Amino acid sequence: MAAYSLSTDSTTNIPDYEYLDVNTKPFHIGSFREEWLSRLKAGNSSYRHEDDDTFDANFAKEMEVGVETMTELRSVCSVDSLRCHPEDQQPDTDVVPADSTLKTLEQRKKRQDYKASLKVTKNRHDLYADELERLTFGRKPGAEADLVPEGEVILSINVYYPATFEKFTYVRPHMTLLMTGSHTLAELRDAICCVSDLQVCGEFSNTPDMAPDFISKDHFKSAFFYFEGVFYNDMRFPECQDISITTIEWAKTRNFPSYSQAKMEDTRFVDLKVKVGFPYLYCHQGDCEHLVIITDVRLSHKDDCLDKKLYPLLTHKHRVTTQKCAVCHVFIGRWVTTNNQFAPSDPCLFCDKCFRMLHYDADGNKLGDFLAYPFVDRGAFN
Ligand SMILES: [Zn+2]
Ligand SMILES: [Zn+2]
Repeated sequence: MAAYSLSTDSTTNIPDYEYLDVNTKPFHIGSFREEWLSRLKAGNSSYRHEDDDTFDANFAKEMEVGVETMTELRSVCSVDSLRCHPEDQQPDTDVVPADSTLKTLEQRKKRQDYKASLKVTKNRHDLYADELERLTFGRKPGAEADLVPEGEVILSINVYYPATFEKFTYVRPHMTLLMTGSHTLAELRDAICCVSDLQVCGEFSNTPDMAPDFISKDHFKSAFFYFEGVFYNDMRFPECQDISITTIEWAKTRNFPSYSQAKMEDTRFVDLKVKVGFPYLYCHQGDCEHLVIITDVRLSHKDDCLDKKLYPLLTHKHRVTTQKCAVCHVFIGRWVTTNNQFAPSDPCLFCDKCFRMLHYDADGNKLGDFLAYPFVDRGAFN
């Protein structure tokens, strides 16, 4: 009886598809982790590398082969025996032979020729991304205390553009983050960068120097995540408000299933019940809404970045083209004007330098009639 109840309990912690290849049914992340750890052999989730002799011995035992067969296998399957040239020659591995008929080599040659035809091989963003990957792969922390513990859960999280951006809104993730099971939702919130948090509200044509003092993130700190019927509110600061209550009250009057609330700073990922692949919600600045999709939940591996301090780890950031100043076409727009007699269009975008040169005299006095609003380009995080 005990065995029976154990097996039924355990199956509820194993994610199963709700829609094939789209999303799973809801499951509890912490229990899923426990399930893996209880089923894996000791050492499977360990970061320690098994030495070659132990590996061979285990392999031989599992395959039921003797020492002699094992030695023969090792020499036959060795990389050194894979040759398509005489033993005494050592050809340059970067040069693809001209008469090659191997499909892989043909593909490689094609790629090499294409790369050689490009003027610029990689832009700085790609170089940065490569460098980031190189630095974090299997990275060990300086101090033992910063090591991601063995058997920790790693989640891949896609955060999408807010619905106000018409382009790319639903298709491309704005950013992809890796987080551990012990991170809180508040830490996810802090890792999400969105231009709405940087917007400066107000009209500043009379006092352009005053503008940067007011940033939305410092003033409107309320936000929530929504996962599986629960609104997780950010309540870390005294000025935070429960902005999910409007939706909850609205749903109550319309016979929706009831929703509950929790605090995002008290909720770790291992406490969550979620569907993998299912779109959830992050809402901040009142109505800036982002889709959040957890695409993977797995145990940590020795090749992961094992330095706790580098998490949440950004693995992908989508780039958008920046909107340039209407005058110089060089710098990113910092001001947007309306009702502006000097501007070629309405509204019109200016960089800080052109804006000031065109609209103010040498003493900083405003010239003419116009309205000016600080502008933060959505490519600000490129
Ligand atoms: Zn946003
Ligand atoms: Zn300019």
